[in-house]
Amino acid sequence: MIIHENVVQANEIIGNDAVKALKRRGFEAEYVPTGADALKRILEIIPADASVGIPGTITVRDIGALDALKERGNVIYQHWGGDMTSAETRAARFKENNADVFLTSANALTRDGQIINIDGTGNRVAGMAWGNGLVLFVIGINKLAFNLEDGIKRAQAATIPNAIRQHVETACVKAGHCVNCLNDESMCRAILILNQAVKGRKYHVIVVGENLGY
Ligand code: SF4
Repeated sequence: MIIHENVVQANEIIGNDAVKALKRRGFEAEYVPTGADALKRILEIIPADASVGIPGTITVRDIGALDALKERGNVIYQHWGGDMTSAETRAARFKENNADVFLTSANALTRDGQIINIDGTGNRVAGMAWGNGLVLFVIGINKLAFNLEDGIKRAQAATIPNAIRQHVETACVKAGHCVNCLNDESMCRAILILNQAVKGRKYHVIVVGENLGY
């Protein structure tokens, strides 16, 4: 894929603007140009002896963070991969949320610093709002939204590839767009808007100037 230098510069300006907005809302935040830079920062921010919970996130896996942390010796908790029973998957989700670091992406980030997530199971949004450890977000520039409404639409649009990945025939997969379903297949049961850093919780957001995840 060709990436024009003017787009690289624009992403840096837009990304740094979002970082300023995140800081105003009490989140530690920084901009890096690439996924490789984000991986470097993740390995610097997370101590080598920390346990790391990694919920359902394509971004974190795509930049190689899960493998790199595992290789370095960090204890990783995840409910993806392997043949787990539903009880084991549930237990793994609890471990993710109680780890020293909860490493995740987000469905959308508004230009004025609100972090938006939609969840079918609730574990991911719970881990972002409540828990013991650091919440470390890695958010590609493609996740930026103009405002809350746009961010929620963006998050719902991500449900289509997410449902395809999980082989769930949601109403949006059938229709090609969100129909605000309320059926058994719905993957949009809980919406979390982090309006400000939650009291007593530490957050660090890495905004990346590349498209990551969906
Ligand atoms: S159609 Fe249902 S599952 Fe799909 S994005 Fe809308 S609310 Fe979510």
